[in-house]
Amino acid sequence: MKPQPTETGFSTRAIHAGQAPDPLTGAIIPPLYLTSTYALEDVDKTKGFLYSRVGNPTRKALETNLAALEGGTAALAFASGMAAINAVMTLLNAGDHVICQDNLYGGSVRLFNQILRRFGIEFTYVDPSSPANLDAALRPNTKLLYLETPTNPLMHLIDLKLCAQWARRRKLLTAVDNTFMTPYYQRPIELGIDIVIHSTTKYLNGHSDGIGGAVVVNGAELAARLHFIQKAAGAILAPMECWLISRGVKTLAVRMRQHSANAMTIARWLAKQNKVRVVHYPGLPDHPQHKLARRQMSGFGGMLSFDLGTEARARRFAKRLKVFALGESLGGVESLIAYPKTMSHAGISAEERAGMGIGDGLLRVSAGIEDVADLIGDLQQALRAV
Ligand SMILES: *Cc1c(COP(=O)(O)O)cnc(C)c1O
Repeated sequence: MKPQPTETGFSTRAIHAGQAPDPLTGAIIPPLYLTSTYALEDVDKTKGFLYSRVGNPTRKALETNLAALEGGTAALAFASGMAAINAVMTLLNAGDHVICQDNLYGGSVRLFNQILRRFGIEFTYVDPSSPANLDAALRPNTKLLYLETPTNPLMHLIDLKLCAQWARRRKLLTAVDNTFMTPYYQRPIELGIDIVIHSTTKYLNGHSDGIGGAVVVNGAELAARLHFIQKAAGAILAPMECWLISRGVKTLAVRMRQHSANAMTIARWLAKQNKVRVVHYPGLPDHPQHKLARRQMSGFGGMLSFDLGTEARARRFAKRLKVFALGESLGGVESLIAYPKTMSHAGISAEERAGMGIGDGLLRVSAGIEDVADLIGDLQQALRAV
């Protein structure tokens, strides 16, 4: 008998959970099932699959794998990270209230404020670093605490264990967007969180060649409710994307170690440059929450940001880059630099950005897994133009 996935190490699970060789042919990689429907053996007898919105073997292989990595009861794959977040929100009813952390991914805020509010779901944004702020936001109709850690682009951390305890005492559900850290470095369910969300577009796929999302839940009841939502609302992930993510996940551990090592080298180097005002990376000992980072995560990840002081300097720097591409997104093998002012945070007013601490000189780095000497060399030559 093969060991159960949860009894094995992370990389073994990443490679084998849900990914057994095909029993029919022995193919070492589970096949890509491009089919919409399934032939029944009799009018009431299936081989486990009926119709691909409801279930598909390639999707199931990925979902089994992701559940094993996050330590959840079940995982569900959706058409994008946003589709996954939207599915979680449809666990709620009109009149329910959500407490959110005040520094969420911009697309989440757009979904909450511009779409879900129209359906009577209420949102309050708070700094959850103090339980007093959470207490002040609590209402009789509060149902969910929605978090993301570390935050984009300033790399603030939220104490997940504290938040999970606070919410549990008040019988609220908790959800965490774990896209930045991945289960390799942070497993919210082990800290008491109920629902973990991923944009698999980022590290889980890891090769910048597909959009996808996933939800991992703790508990059979939540799993059943989300399976129903997935089937009924239909924002499922297509088999080809499921297959690509399963392939990506097999190298997640080695990729994350290299992303993290490169980010650490870059952060340390940037911190020594006098043209750089500040570097935000949880792995630096002077990060304000470095201790929490060490406790809550088993590594520091590939994301960081730094401030060159002014927009003119940030623009001159960005224009000179050769190895780094300028771009949105993150978590691919290639290094990217983003300029929040005109990219991810363009829809936010200058005052709001300033209030959040996002200055006009701030640049965000997604450290890829290239040779770090080439990355540093590129940053160095670009910095000369500043
Ligand atoms: C990209 C991203 C999302 C949205 O995911 P899509 O796959 O683009 O829909 C949500 N949360 C975080 C933290 C992200 O980085």
